[in-house]
Amino acid sequence: MDSERGTVRSAQAGVTNAPPDRARLPRSRRPVGEPALPGSSSPWILMYHSVAVEKEDPYQLTVSPERFAEQIAWLHRRGQRGVSVRELMRARAHGRDDKLVGLTFDDGYADFARYAVPILQAYGFTATAYVVADLLGQDNGWDTEGPRKKLLTVEEVTELASAGWEIGSHGLGHQALPGLPAEALAVQTRESRRLLEEVVGGPVTGFCYPYGAVDLPAAAAVRDAGYDYACAIAHSPLTGRYALPRCYVGDRDGAWRLRAKKGRHRLRDAVTELKRSRRDRPGGERAVAERRP
Ligand SMILES: [Zn+2]
Repeated sequence: MDSERGTVRSAQAGVTNAPPDRARLPRSRRPVGEPALPGSSSPWILMYHSVAVEKEDPYQLTVSPERFAEQIAWLHRRGQRGVSVRELMRARAHGRDDKLVGLTFDDGYADFARYAVPILQAYGFTATAYVVADLLGQDNGWDTEGPRKKLLTVEEVTELASAGWEIGSHGLGHQALPGLPAEALAVQTRESRRLLEEVVGGPVTGFCYPYGAVDLPAAAAVRDAGYDYACAIAHSPLTGRYALPRCYVGDRDGAWRLRAKKGRHRLRDAVTELKRSRRDRPGGERAVAERRP
């Protein structure tokens, strides 16, 4: 794994040092708001937090194992395969993602390994867990109400990564990024990545904004820290590789609600693309803004 990491690093260094005419656009200089694929809709990515039995759930973060199994079975029946966002983005780059759906688990709850993994494995699915790099083995102290939930430990994260589950960064201290000064943004993105790369023994290429909160400086910091993509929640003018929209899935979501949510996602994609094309066309909002003194 170390040699793989070395290869990625030296490949990136090679790009930076290449003469300008031959240099490829390095990953870290991609425009922040670019669509994941130009002109295309965004991939369908489901957002989970905790899979467990919970009496109290004020933030509606928890899906019961039974309900989760039903939702995964529903995807399977429809000929869809749940995958990590890393795998989804790779397949998408080759136009081979039409049967794939991204499965994401925010916060890195210990119940991911206990309940979600065995159900996903039964269907040959994979997923991404976004963990808070400096809180491994602790609990969700940032949620002041509701039950305390244990977070995955360092050992569990190492084990999950070596079994092929994607581990992404959810920053440090579960802090929202918008409004933080530049140095703090750099620490949140770079330091969390560095810590997690030590734990997983390989590259960490995915980021997920705590609370789904993203603005332009936050997305630029994530890009500059060398991540390949980042997950947000809502569609926005930043929708693209560094602000992938996701669909919240809760304990009330059976087959018809999931179908409706997929339709709503496609509709929001279409509206986002329409706004983007209006903004970018000659004489559009962006052109007008740029002409201002
Ligand atoms: Zn979170």
